[in-house]
Amino acid sequence: MTTKDDEAARIARAQLPPGLRPETLAVRTALAPSQHGEHSEGLFLTTAFVQPDSATAARRFAQMEDFTYGRTSNPTVRSFEARLAAMEGAEAAVATATGMSAILLLIMGLLKSGDHVICSRSVFGSTVSLFAKEFGKFGVETTFVSQTDISEWRAALRPSTKLLFAETPTNPLTEVCDIQALADLAHGAGALLTVDNSFCSPALQRPLALGADLVMHAGTKYLDGQGRVMAGALCGPQHLIADVFGPTVRTAGMTLSPFNAWVVLKGLETLSIRMKAQSEATLAVARWLEGQPAVARVYYPGLASHPQHDLAMRQQSGLGGAVLSFDLRGDTPEAAREAAFCVIDSTRVLSIATNLGDTKSIITHPSTTSHGRLTEAQRLAAGIGQGLVRLAVGLEHVDDITDDLQRGLQALTERRNA
Ligand SMILES: *Cc1c(COP(=O)(O)O)cnc(C)c1O
Repeated sequence: MTTKDDEAARIARAQLPPGLRPETLAVRTALAPSQHGEHSEGLFLTTAFVQPDSATAARRFAQMEDFTYGRTSNPTVRSFEARLAAMEGAEAAVATATGMSAILLLIMGLLKSGDHVICSRSVFGSTVSLFAKEFGKFGVETTFVSQTDISEWRAALRPSTKLLFAETPTNPLTEVCDIQALADLAHGAGALLTVDNSFCSPALQRPLALGADLVMHAGTKYLDGQGRVMAGALCGPQHLIADVFGPTVRTAGMTLSPFNAWVVLKGLETLSIRMKAQSEATLAVARWLEGQPAVARVYYPGLASHPQHDLAMRQQSGLGGAVLSFDLRGDTPEAAREAAFCVIDSTRVLSIATNLGDTKSIITHPSTTSHGRLTEAQRLAAGIGQGLVRLAVGLEHVDDITDDLQRGLQALTERRNA
């Protein structure tokens, strides 16, 4: 074969046949390999791309095609975008530096002063602050409504409503909203629905198939899955990604680093088996916690006691995800907080941190950490009390996780009996 034939064969081989299943797309979707034929996707750590001649450079800069400069595009970042889009069933995706910058991109790209957003008040803490404080400064107003009561969303609609923003299940109380119902509501009002799919990932939940217009990701969480890098993305229709969000990233610069893109790209290959294993372990831990006398309540969509259990099972491929929360009994907020601190500090295997979506299990006190920047009123409105403990289950043996929680609960019992 001539070199030209080699190149044609290499590119043709990268065109996958139609109808492949998500697990296959997760390991196979990428740009064609380079002329070296690397099997694992290449990491292109480069700021600029050399152009063959000035006329080509002029055309590429004007049309944003091929590769010119790292803020605009990079082959490793492109492979990550293509793979994530395939897994979400989206036409296209655009990567961002973090999950929060994906929301920044969403609003910068889509809205202008005077536009109105409706958002659940139970979404991720920084998301609430971003909508309420930062976007408010630029004249984009947000109404916060109940995660689960669709009549509140309907009542909040205005002629200027352009976007509904939902996250399901929520952090830390795992409240589930009905994506299909919210999509119908948005479309009836001429608005778009964006779903933050960071908690379930496309391995469990594909919001676009349920009618959502855009999916947002904190790739920092399960897409990487091993707690290594920050990343984010928006997935959706080609016309929005290519004509709206792509140009905004190019101008505003919330670009994903190629190194981080490479790490998350490889993380996607094991996403499905991780999500299944971690969800099954979380269900076992949730059932165990329900039997503990010091525990007042367990929040986990996989439990039959969860208020939206049936909806969650329909929407999330029959699995609950890998995050649960539980409330410790306490007569006063101070007593509840002391109980939570005692249980958390008496564990020895679980990590005390504020991340989730790692192979290492993480235990968190939301009201003083992830949700510490909210006002007490905002926290109470979201139902996050001082006795609440969140557990993001990783890949340790499930018995070692319950043994560790047992250590924590035992220390609490001893302190209360002392
Ligand atoms: C972590 C998280 C974010 C923010 O992602 P970063 O990468 O930390 O900016 C947004 N939404 C949800 C649901 C998250 O868990």
